[in-house]
Amino acid sequence: MSRPLTRVAQHPPPRSPEGAGADSEAAAVDARVNLLGMPRTELERFFVGLGEKPWRAKQLMKWMYHAGVGEFGAMTDISRTLRARLAEIACIEAPELTPFPTAADGTRKWSVAVGDGSEQVEAVLIPEAGRATLCISSQVGCILDCAFCATGKQGFNGNLSRAEIVGQAWAARRELAAEGSSRGITNIVFMGMGEPLYNFDAVMDAASVFADDLGFGISRRRVTISTAGVVPRIRELASRSEVSLAVSLHAANDELRSRLVPLNRKYPIDELLDACREWLNQLGDRRSVTIEYTLMEGVNDQITHAVQLAELLRDLRCKVNLIPFNPFAGSEFVRPSMRRVRAFQTHLLNAGIPTMLRTTRGDDITAACGQLVGQVRDRTRRKARHQARRLIAVEPGRTRSGSAAPP
Ligand code: SAH
Repeated sequence: MSRPLTRVAQHPPPRSPEGAGADSEAAAVDARVNLLGMPRTELERFFVGLGEKPWRAKQLMKWMYHAGVGEFGAMTDISRTLRARLAEIACIEAPELTPFPTAADGTRKWSVAVGDGSEQVEAVLIPEAGRATLCISSQVGCILDCAFCATGKQGFNGNLSRAEIVGQAWAARRELAAEGSSRGITNIVFMGMGEPLYNFDAVMDAASVFADDLGFGISRRRVTISTAGVVPRIRELASRSEVSLAVSLHAANDELRSRLVPLNRKYPIDELLDACREWLNQLGDRRSVTIEYTLMEGVNDQITHAVQLAELLRDLRCKVNLIPFNPFAGSEFVRPSMRRVRAFQTHLLNAGIPTMLRTTRGDDITAACGQLVGQVRDRTRRKARHQARRLIAVEPGRTRSGSAAPP
């Protein structure tokens, strides 16, 4: 499923198979390797392959990530000959970012043009006191179809490349710098569009660049991968990277969770929590798993659910993040009242489970959890199915109010 690492710089390969002919034509013109998002060890090998010293990787990373430079020509401490050679065979290309208007609470959202430029994913920057969290996407749409998530309704069209993943942070930081903002990105969360553990290699490469001192220099603990529960990858995660882990649980029993998160039918709750325990053991530090729980009125927000959840999490080193449901066009769920949310939180706290409330950010620009949609050339037909369902739901005479008569 993952796309080749060597990217066509000027004309990235279309993801759809019908574009294959045009792609190879473009590749003949330009097959430069994109160095953005390449982990340090691989970049060292790249330079050794050119007959250069491995420390060239350090030089280049400082230019790319510390100085935000994307043109080899500007890298003045690299010899002219090498710069010219690099320009011939390589490039530093990030996806183009287009800003949405800034939300009332300061949250910012960008549309990120990916692939051949006709598709878009979204990235969100959430400024808070003393920190700024960038929420990035890992796939075009999402292969999962969680009942309450807007991204899933868009369908799916493949993985982002590591350059497209790292590029979201790289371009966002460049924009902030151009605006004269002294604010850096302090935290990165893979909580945008897509299931990061289904794009494992690219996400691992990106994580290594985010954490590298010569890259973004963000502590591994502050880089968080959020997953709907891809068990085999969770088991592998600690051996690949020391990033933090968040698991989207949303229900404390398999019957309900399978309805909300269809992936649960493949990897049920017991297996999922076992994998989380294994991850904690492998890391061997005092880390905890973040359990995400989106509260939906009348679905999973009653005290009986909180009781069940507390019981389930009793022997897992975790903290719970409660997310009041964020509505989107056509969504069938409702956000519970604050009173109900607080009651749920209080029960978990009384049971000894650290429980935070994730305040809704940027919902006036649909930048909140689960509201990201982008522009996806869906190859699953899921989008059409959801749209048809919505049409039926609002068709005159079939609405609940039944007000309008058919023509
Ligand atoms: N695929 C990954 C990351 C994407 S979503 C995952 O499932 O974890 C990031 C978080 O937002 C997840 O916990 C997701 O379940 C939650 N979410 C999705 N839609 C939501 C909505 N409409 N309201 C609130 N949270 C939502």
